[in-house]
Amino acid sequence: MPFELKNTLNLPKTDFPMKANLPQNEPKMLARWEQMGVYDLIREARKDARNRGHKYVLHDGPPYANGALHLGHALNKCLKDFIVKSKNMAGFDAPYVPGWDCHGLPIEIKVDQQLGKKKLQMNPSDVRLECRKYAEKFLNLQREQFKRIGVFGRWDDPYSTMTPEYESVVLHAFYEFLEKGFVYKGLRSVYWCIHDQTALAEAEVEYEDHTSTTVWVKYGMKDDPGSIDPALKGKKVFTIIWTTTPWTLPASMAVAFHPDEEYVALESGGEVYIVAAKLGNAVIEKCGLTEAKEIARFPGRKLERVNFRHPFLDRDVLGVLADYVTMDTGTGVVHTAPSHGAEDFLTGLKYDLDATSRVDEAGFIREGLPEYDGKKVFEANAPIVELLKTRGVLLHTEKLEHSYPHCWRCHNPIIFRATEQWFISMETPMPGGTLRTRALEEIKKVKWDPAWGEGRISNMIATRPDWCISRQRIWGVPIAVFLCEKCGKPLLNHEVNRAVGTLFAESGADAWYTPAADALVPTGAKCTHCGGTKFKKEMDILDVWFESGSSYLALRAAEPSEYGPTSDLYLEGGDQHRGWFHSSLLCTIGVQGNAPYRHVATVGWTLDENGQAMSKSRGNDVDPVDIANRMGGEIVRLWVASVDFREDVVGSERLMQSIAENYRTIRNSLFKYGLGNLYDFDPARDAVPFEKLEPLDQYILRQTAAMSADVIRWYDEFAFHKIYQRVLNFCAVDLSAVYFDILKDRLYISAPDSPGRRAAQTATWRILEALVRLLAPIMSFTCEEVWGYLPAVSGRPQSVHTALFPSRDEILGPGVADDPKQMEDWATLLAVREQVLKALEEARNAKQIGKGLEARVKLTATGPLYSLLSRYRDELRYLFIVSQVTLEEKPSGNGTGSVSVQVSKADGKKCERCWNYSIHVGEDPSYPTICERCSAVLQELEKSKK
Ligand SMILES: [Zn+2]
Ligand SMILES: [Zn+2]
Ligand SMILES: [Zn+2]
Repeated sequence: MPFELKNTLNLPKTDFPMKANLPQNEPKMLARWEQMGVYDLIREARKDARNRGHKYVLHDGPPYANGALHLGHALNKCLKDFIVKSKNMAGFDAPYVPGWDCHGLPIEIKVDQQLGKKKLQMNPSDVRLECRKYAEKFLNLQREQFKRIGVFGRWDDPYSTMTPEYESVVLHAFYEFLEKGFVYKGLRSVYWCIHDQTALAEAEVEYEDHTSTTVWVKYGMKDDPGSIDPALKGKKVFTIIWTTTPWTLPASMAVAFHPDEEYVALESGGEVYIVAAKLGNAVIEKCGLTEAKEIARFPGRKLERVNFRHPFLDRDVLGVLADYVTMDTGTGVVHTAPSHGAEDFLTGLKYDLDATSRVDEAGFIREGLPEYDGKKVFEANAPIVELLKTRGVLLHTEKLEHSYPHCWRCHNPIIFRATEQWFISMETPMPGGTLRTRALEEIKKVKWDPAWGEGRISNMIATRPDWCISRQRIWGVPIAVFLCEKCGKPLLNHEVNRAVGTLFAESGADAWYTPAADALVPTGAKCTHCGGTKFKKEMDILDVWFESGSSYLALRAAEPSEYGPTSDLYLEGGDQHRGWFHSSLLCTIGVQGNAPYRHVATVGWTLDENGQAMSKSRGNDVDPVDIANRMGGEIVRLWVASVDFREDVVGSERLMQSIAENYRTIRNSLFKYGLGNLYDFDPARDAVPFEKLEPLDQYILRQTAAMSADVIRWYDEFAFHKIYQRVLNFCAVDLSAVYFDILKDRLYISAPDSPGRRAAQTATWRILEALVRLLAPIMSFTCEEVWGYLPAVSGRPQSVHTALFPSRDEILGPGVADDPKQMEDWATLLAVREQVLKALEEARNAKQIGKGLEARVKLTATGPLYSLLSRYRDELRYLFIVSQVTLEEKPSGNGTGSVSVQVSKADGKKCERCWNYSIHVGEDPSYPTICERCSAVLQELEKSKK
């Protein structure tokens, strides 16, 4: 016997490992990428696109450099990586320059803690150096962690807000605003953290629950009440205010009424109280006004400029009108402290009220009565309530749990405090309108994704106050202007500004803290306001949001030929409508007149399985680096692809495990199995043209082409979860359970070079070539690994990531026309297959047969179904993986027809080589245990041996 039978089968073989060992192998792949310079290779591969201006710029929002990665970071960066890689594979030149936000309070606070008392002896430059080291440490850590999960980008040259180049761009942007007249310095009541001792931006405020002491306090009317209503003449009249911040009462300058709401005068116990009509009953109840009787009613506007008396200070308090007075809680009368409220401050401007703050940076009340002087604001509440009691003006007090603004850094409750700050005006005229109207117009040109983002950011821009851009800290970009020592106004001199800008570009913002900066005031400089000749440096720094808002400007400044006025995409968390999307919009409009983005997409929050936000302290966080080290960065990436990122997403150990399971399905049922059957396939020599493929091969390739078109479209729509689901289903069902299952007979049993086997290999090869590209943006490690195992073809680039997505022609062959009829036929044949597999399963359960190959299937079909099946008569046994199929027509029936299935034992004997049953086993004297088909194959093999 010339052949050992089992050596004549073409069983799969490949070195592509079944076990991925991602935690061990990914770092090796990273080293390979590093060595080949994969990011530069991709850029090089898209040079033509770049020259044609076929670019796609995703501009990275800078994470804050003060901690290790959390799952939200991984989600954010992997999504960007999917987009950038897929745009490159779609033929765009898509650069990706990652960035970091390095200045600001969180780092300065950490460094303060580390330095402790030592800080007091240090000069600002040395403190800044410590902050820089701290930021550098975390920038480097995060960079390594982002790389670890396979994110490509210009990692060796990112942008960072603390480089001299970046700092000079920020300063330049500030000067643009200054020289165009947007910037002013003024007293404002701003959010103030008494713990961090600095002003806060809107975006730095978070609402948390807080218990406040609330008081109902009566203010006596000083003017003649008869002038408001005759019924009040000669009575002792008061109004009642309600406040949740008793400590602001020393600053009470006015009581505000709503001009159009009705107010009532309630008489009780010999006194008369004016409160809003809608809240009358509530006040009566809270303040215990016994037998209260309404004696007059009038609109709020009658109380304008009526004088009241402060409840415990020797001060008149003015009746004022304000639209923001609401009728939902309290008394409808708002005690107004211009130094401690944004709206109060504006009302104060209107009525010329004193807005001087008597609360210092640390929150201590100064120049007050002995009862509360020198106390911290929140600690002053109790003595002030006592004081109100002793003065007989407290009508009621109670605790209130409510949502109250807190500092997002230190989580302490914050206050409003009037201070001198730098502002960018939203109302200064500019070409085309004001910063506000221009921003609102630009918003309309942007694609907001999801669409609700447009309303959110529009409302914020429409209602926001002027932008308070100054902070009283050290770690940032200083507001580098010289102030007249006499009048405090800034020296407005373009040349000087330019000199400072040059100094920053050379030596960084640190230079402001050295004598080099002082030398920049030209001799003989005069204040244009007062003629003063002495100047000092402003030491406030810019709001960090102004810095990060300038990031696209910085990118453009560094590489003007690479970046146009508008980027293609910003993609960040849904809270950035008040943060980075917002500040970027204002910065670029101020400097260059337009929005920095065409498309803004937002990402949901990462939650645990119970819908709770993840946090390290709560212990429900999933650490992406830990997952990468235990399961693979690829698993983190695949998890990101699996979620619908526009919604809040859920991450957990359990989910990661199930993702890892699905990873194995794709790895083994697609790649490993496919590669295993290509070991002797040379595309140049063996590939079969489409028209010579078997119908099933043609069908699966058409399926692949259709899926490929969907996948490419879904990349364009950022619908990665659809790609994930579809590909997974394709691998598990279309390939593993159907196509590859049916193919085994043809691949293993036929002669190696037989047309049927080469056809099967051609289809398998084309499927792999398509999917390795289609999946590369997501499964970047695995696809690169597979890339190295694919049959060699000439001109194959070094990395899959420099390849393009497969075209329809590449999958099917050039010029292959659509064939809906063929697709329909095969959908029907596969449905019949399902029916047969069910019947085989039943026969197996009834112990009638064992394996499918032991069966003979009899189909009885009617109508068009019969004619379809009869056309494929010879294919059917392979399709069903049985040994024999007979087909009979039942003449009756109409419509599309139907089929019934009968299963019996196959005729003949089992072939020892292919395990099919045949009545011809034993007919070949050289191989008495094999069937006629195998006998033909062996004869073929013998011939080729000779
Ligand atoms: Zn704080
Ligand atoms: Zn001056
Ligand atoms: Zn056989």
